[in-house]
Amino acid sequence: MGLVVQKFGGTSVGTIERIKNTAKRVIAEKKKGNDVVVVVSAMGKTTDQLVSLAKELSPYPSKREMDMLLSTGEQVTISLLSIALAEAGFEAVSLTGWQAGILTENVHSNARILNIDQTNIRHHLIANRIIVVAGFQGVSENNEITTLGRGGSDTTAVALAAALHADKCMIYTDVTGVFTSDPRYIPTARKLGAISYDEMLELSNLGAGVLHSRAVEFAKNYNVPLEVCSSMVNEDGTFIEEEVQVEKSLIVRGVAFEDEITRITVFGLKDKLTNLSGIFTTLANKNINVDIIIQNQTDGENPYLSFTIKHEDLRDTIQLLESKQDELCFDHFEYESGLAKVSIVGSGMISNPGVAAKMFDCLTKNEIQIRMVSTSEIKVSTVLEESYMVKAAQLLHTAFGLDVVEQQV
Ligand code: ASP
Ligand code: MG
Repeated sequence: MGLVVQKFGGTSVGTIERIKNTAKRVIAEKKKGNDVVVVVSAMGKTTDQLVSLAKELSPYPSKREMDMLLSTGEQVTISLLSIALAEAGFEAVSLTGWQAGILTENVHSNARILNIDQTNIRHHLIANRIIVVAGFQGVSENNEITTLGRGGSDTTAVALAAALHADKCMIYTDVTGVFTSDPRYIPTARKLGAISYDEMLELSNLGAGVLHSRAVEFAKNYNVPLEVCSSMVNEDGTFIEEEVQVEKSLIVRGVAFEDEITRITVFGLKDKLTNLSGIFTTLANKNINVDIIIQNQTDGENPYLSFTIKHEDLRDTIQLLESKQDELCFDHFEYESGLAKVSIVGSGMISNPGVAAKMFDCLTKNEIQIRMVSTSEIKVSTVLEESYMVKAAQLLHTAFGLDVVEQQV
């Protein structure tokens, strides 16, 4: 007998009919003789709707109140699913984040899980109950309800799987697995049979919405076997694991893209070293995530600095830079919104030179201007105008041989 964690996303629990179907999948797992811990998201677009309600009252509602509000979405689903399970004759218990012992940092809207107190869950498992946990939420040491960032239910599931030493963690979603790119925009994208933790981590960080990046981080650190699969179609999904042998020939395994990027450029840094740490510490203290950073200096001139942020952080960033201009010792700053980031990812890059060159060549040949570049061992990212995002992604998908392979007859 094993322990399985199953996570169902918003679409999979979007209607009462779907909740009944989800209950069937849970029961099937239980009937195999496994202990089952289920993690669910809010129904359908509930979280978005709750956000809109708050925005009708205030353009910038307090993060604490937003956590209080958004955490209710998942609470609806846990009780409905538990009711459905009980109706089918299975003993189930719903638990909110704090009841499930999910302790987080004292940060609102994007908290990290620090620890899981398993006492309550273990108690219910011993009583042979199916446990239904509200995803995306936890409690801080100050007894505040926190949330883990949009898409955070995946992280709840993987963190629970890690803490409970689950035999596997299944992420049920509305797509059939992890694709080479987002099939809603790139029609030639296809499903991958398997992908490594590192590649998945890059893809998630780069905006591939299928898995929350912190979930992949947990899975990698604790070696949790993950499978992403469809809750509607019965077919194998994508396995996420340490070493992936399949499709070794492909140097690039995925193309990810993300819009709503803003570039900030700070000119005339007077004291390079202090400014750099000062600027980024100030932003970090406000929980503003900075992505690509470029610093440049030519002889005799004060250096300048460019970095990207998410557009939603622009207001806070402007406020910070304006209020601390003297302290941070710079001349002035400018920003450019309406940008996007398009990236290619693949472990094969480590041993194959020329991948970045091929990427730049493909984009410039098609007259797509590259604004910024950043690389790691297994990815190359470019920042470009948002209006070229999908075109660039499609071109790269084709250039790196990722398009659907025609069946040979
Ligand atoms: N309900 C939350 C969201 O929509 C968390 C999740 O679904 O993972 O972002
Ligand atoms: Mg999700």
